[in-house]
Amino acid sequence: NVLLTVDRLRKKFATGDAPAVERASFDLGEGEMLALLGPSGCGKTTTLRMIGGFEVPDSGHVSLRGQDITDAAPEARGIGFVFQDYALFPHLTVLDNVKFGLRKMTRAQATDRAAQMLRMVGLDGLAGRRPHELSGGQQQRVALARTLAMAPPLVLMDEPFSNLDAAMRVDTRQEVRKLLKQTGAAGIIVTHDQEEAMAVADRIAVMEAGRIVQIGTPDEIYRYPVSAFVASFIGRSNLLTGNANGMEVATEFGNLPLSRAANGAVTLSVRPEQIMLEADAAGPASVVGREFRGHDQLYWVQEGERCMQVISGAGATIEVGQRVRLRICDCVVPLA
Ligand code: ADP
Ligand code: MG
Repeated sequence: NVLLTVDRLRKKFATGDAPAVERASFDLGEGEMLALLGPSGCGKTTTLRMIGGFEVPDSGHVSLRGQDITDAAPEARGIGFVFQDYALFPHLTVLDNVKFGLRKMTRAQATDRAAQMLRMVGLDGLAGRRPHELSGGQQQRVALARTLAMAPPLVLMDEPFSNLDAAMRVDTRQEVRKLLKQTGAAGIIVTHDQEEAMAVADRIAVMEAGRIVQIGTPDEIYRYPVSAFVASFIGRSNLLTGNANGMEVATEFGNLPLSRAANGAVTLSVRPEQIMLEADAAGPASVVGREFRGHDQLYWVQEGERCMQVISGAGATIEVGQRVRLRICDCVVPLA
């Protein structure tokens, strides 16, 4: 049940020396939520705009339910789009904004449908207001209701929560995920925020310099990053070198189990929560920084030339300046 196929999309702008997007390929299932995640300038928006039909690719194809739509106009694709600034009509009421895309229905049908959508997003009490009388989160939900009213099989969203404050963002993104799942619409959300991507998406496509470098579930990407870039962009990571022999690797922290077989010189990713910190007056390392994060503590620990990030529970605090010993207590991931 593949809904969308994106096949080797490429786009080079006349002003850039490198392509903005190159060989971007993935499939999206019916009802699936995918995050395009990467740092600013890596080509996320350009990829989304090519899928939506707002940008013409140099080469490659986009198909929806098996039909090639690469050259179709945006409005002919039947794909929904939620813009970053919501693009609501300021002079129309909330209800009329939601009805706007429903011009093919009779007026009564459109009113029913819009009212139903507003109930779904929890805004039926505000149908008569104008956009400026709503909070940012409410405007976001109106924009989503307007898009979902047209029952698109796919909704494209470019940094849809960037105008919301942090607490509102967390609630709204769960709401959006729930609404898409409820209506059966698939979604592609562009974000540079790894936490947001992990929170809303079924799968994440990580982009670096115009290319999709890894695609997988949040769990797979977090646990098994393929490169130092992915390991450091999604969560925090310590990079070690070692000499691998099958499922084991020799490192300066002793012999450690590997997440997959490798041989010879390897770079390894170790998550901060995979390291244990023990206070030890004769230990080889010392704490050089500490950040209390409520639910846990993040330490920076210097051992010789190397500085490691370590996360441990909020309980026992080790102060900056104390001597410690580090132990890696999990399998480590060899990077490509
Ligand atoms: P992201 O959304 O990941 O921040 P973009 O897709 O917006 O990245 O941009 C990717 C690259 O393409 C950047 O180097 C950007 O400057 C360039 N770019 C984007 N849009 C245009 C355009 N219309 N004309 C020229 N260059 C562009
Ligand atoms: Mg962008």
